[in-house]
Amino acid sequence: MSTIVFDHQLAPLPERKRIALVAHDGKKKDLCSWAKINRDALAAHELIATGTTGSLLEQVLGCPVMKCASGPLGGDQQIGAMIVAEKIDILLFFWDPLTAQPHDPDVKALLRIAALYDIPIACNRASADFIVTSQLLSRPYARQAPTG
Ligand code: PGA
Repeated sequence: MSTIVFDHQLAPLPERKRIALVAHDGKKKDLCSWAKINRDALAAHELIATGTTGSLLEQVLGCPVMKCASGPLGGDQQIGAMIVAEKIDILLFFWDPLTAQPHDPDVKALLRIAALYDIPIACNRASADFIVTSQLLSRPYARQAPTG
């Protein structure tokens, strides 16, 4: 079996985090209401989102959100590529466990890359609450490089 070699250290997650937010249609209301409650904590960081989620969040939060393509059109893959490029530090991904998605392979790929690059991932409201209230949210954090 071949060994996968990862040839550089990952930069620590910075104090000011780059937070990616994605919500499937059945979870957009949930993410927007959570984001509204946590508006000030989120606004202290840089926000990136898939297209439709980003537009909704901008309305709810009144602060800029960098928008990728819509998820089904490749937005999840763009966010995954940003994780590989070390341009995303946290993933808040409210995926819908009750509805099949046309872009399910992209969803799986995004979760895989986020796990591999050792960034915090929240897939529901409770996990997002734990992340947003963590002292580590506003501190540098040395994550682990992938090992093969
Ligand atoms: P959207 O994409 O924010 O453009 O709806 C989310 C998704 O379905 O992955």
